[in-house]
Amino acid sequence: MSRFNAILDRFRADGHRITKARENILKIFLASKVPLSAAELNSRLVTVNITVNKTTIYREIDFLKKQKIIRELQFGDGKKRFEWPDNHHHHLVCISCDSIECIELDGCLEAEEKKILKENNFKTINHSLEFQGLCAKCQ
Ligand SMILES: [Zn+2]
Ligand SMILES: [Zn+2]
Ligand SMILES: [Zn+2]
Repeated sequence: MSRFNAILDRFRADGHRITKARENILKIFLASKVPLSAAELNSRLVTVNITVNKTTIYREIDFLKKQKIIRELQFGDGKKRFEWPDNHHHHLVCISCDSIECIELDGCLEAEEKKILKENNFKTINHSLEFQGLCAKCQ
């Protein structure tokens, strides 16, 4: 069973309604390779011919957040973005055009992170690491 269907099944089992908007928002987050703001989510909904008002968008984002389907990210530009928190990764943030890229690190830096935590006897619940700079287009 796909993850999409598994989540819908869980919603149903918990007595949550499955609306067209909810279904499509879930699909968009599953497919997106970058974190989305509410406005970006809205424009993606428009491309699949779903029109919802702002209140619905925020309510659905809130719902998915509470269900731990998506997580909220803030990169210091005042915009909230949301993404499917599937695998542990980090972000490249362009300070010029606001584009975000998700990156996975291979071994080295992740190992360094673990070492720091261990040496400081600090039990981390979550961490984020972002690189701010200029994307390929903005250099
Ligand atoms: Zn850029
Ligand atoms: Zn990401
Ligand atoms: Zn990390």
